[in-house]
Amino acid sequence: MGRRGGTAIRHRPTDTHTWEHRLFGRYGARMTVSAVTTAIEQLKDVLGPRGWLAGPDTVDASTDHRGYWTQAPLLLARPSTVEELRSVVTICRDAAVNIVTQGGNTGLSGGSIPTDQQSVIISTKRMNRIIEVDADCSTITAEAGVTIQELQEAARAADRQLAADWGARGTATLGGGLSTDAGGINVLRSGTMRDQVLGLEVVLPDGRVWDGLRSLRKDASGYGLQHMFVGAEGTLGIITKAVLKLEPLDLYEQSFLATVSSLDAVLPFFSMATTQAEGKLSAFELLPNLGIRKIVETVHDAHHPLPDSAADAWHVLARFSGRRPVTDDLTELLSGASDAGMIVDAAVAETAAQNDNLWTLREELPPEPLFGVSGAKFDAAVPVSHIIEYLKEVTARAQSIEPTSLTFAFGHVGDGNLHLYVLPGTEPGMTMAPEQKAEITAAIDDITWSHGGTISAEHGVGQELRSRMLTQKGDVEIDLMRTIKNAIDPNNTFNPDKLFT
Ligand SMILES: Cc1cc2nc3c(=O)[nH]c(=O)nc-3n(C[C@H](O)[C@H](O)[C@H](O)COP(=O)(O)OP(=O)(O)OC[C@H]3O[C@@H](n4cnc5c(N)ncnc54)[C@H](O)[C@@H]3O)c2cc1C
Repeated sequence: MGRRGGTAIRHRPTDTHTWEHRLFGRYGARMTVSAVTTAIEQLKDVLGPRGWLAGPDTVDASTDHRGYWTQAPLLLARPSTVEELRSVVTICRDAAVNIVTQGGNTGLSGGSIPTDQQSVIISTKRMNRIIEVDADCSTITAEAGVTIQELQEAARAADRQLAADWGARGTATLGGGLSTDAGGINVLRSGTMRDQVLGLEVVLPDGRVWDGLRSLRKDASGYGLQHMFVGAEGTLGIITKAVLKLEPLDLYEQSFLATVSSLDAVLPFFSMATTQAEGKLSAFELLPNLGIRKIVETVHDAHHPLPDSAADAWHVLARFSGRRPVTDDLTELLSGASDAGMIVDAAVAETAAQNDNLWTLREELPPEPLFGVSGAKFDAAVPVSHIIEYLKEVTARAQSIEPTSLTFAFGHVGDGNLHLYVLPGTEPGMTMAPEQKAEITAAIDDITWSHGGTISAEHGVGQELRSRMLTQKGDVEIDLMRTIKNAIDPNNTFNPDKLFT
């Protein structure tokens, strides 16, 4: 299915009765309209009246968070137990109906939206029970539809904390976060979702349930299958439950915004912070002043703690946290960095409101909604030591293609990951021409790979990056991925056309 505003959608049935043609199942097997209609009726029976939505009630689930992709499902199934979910999978399997799993639908690569007209969406939102918080084991066990914020709150109540945290925490789910291997603002110290997972329960395309819901810290008994489903974007199985690691709850945390003397000072400053802070540095983000100024203009209550900084200045937003007070470490770092000429100004958050303000400045930075413009977008990562050189190369290359372009970068510089945009400008309504976007995208992807990087650091591949991802990986890697997919989902009914076509 094309992006909104792209290829016109000729048929978009909202229920099975609008189907006029015979449907063709996988591998040439013929499936009649009545087989699909029967399957949909069976699904409704199994799920009960609260367990499904159809027609106009599926509108929200039919479009992704940013409104880039739209496709209505045959039915939106809302199972509340693994048994119900398993019945949905077997009914769909027998009728050769595709399945797209959806958690909070906050994904940024189109993975949660069907690409064809013969898919059922399975929403995990009603599978939202926290099963256990084990403080002694430092683990949490929960169903896939629990939100990241609910997990965080449950952990905190047990004097523990969940490492996972990102802007969509209130809506994004455990299953969705695992399936995209989401990162966020704590990756620097704790890693991505993959680093949190200990065990999983998964419903497979053939209807079997894999019970790998273990909370073992060590298990050298063969393949770590749980990792195969992390980042698989629902193409191999549906995660129904997971056990995640928890950490000791940080009792102290403090953030600061510092203006760096130049981009070249960012990595030495980062190195000083990691060495000096001894495990207390929990976030290190790069913020362009251009974006902060716009946020302060447009977002209610946001204010600039360093209002005199130059329009083209770069800031670092960093956070220290731990079980003991962190203020002395933070002050020592800022004073050392200032003496070394790495930073020229800094503001330390002294209150919760000041802290929230700093993180609002970070979370509101995505420039397309901020400025009302549209350009080429990248979620790239390179080895940390390359990140500034990479940013400079990208900026120069974009300008050589289009001298009026603006490279806007922000984000997890301490992880080697920048959310990077090449924009046509910052006047509301400006849109980059498709041919130019394609040229800039290809040129910047080449730079990313030349640094040994990836074009998807944390947003997954979904529909957006599947063709570009093929070029990033070698033939052997793609062949291994396809072999795994074919072995587990030979009929290609689980999230088809995602990751690869
Ligand atoms: C404001 C905002 C900020 C964000 N910030 C970050 C960030 O800093 N870092 C980051 O990494 N990401 C970020 N994201 C994107 C992030 O990828 C998603 O928020 C999250 O990972 C997806 O969770 P979800 O429940 O919404 O999944 P969905 O969007 O519903 O689905 C995402 C993918 O996972 C699959 N899936 C969902 N549930 C399951 C399941 N139970 N079993 C198998 N497959 C499943 C879907 O089929 C789809 O392919 C942000 C998104 C937003 C909107």
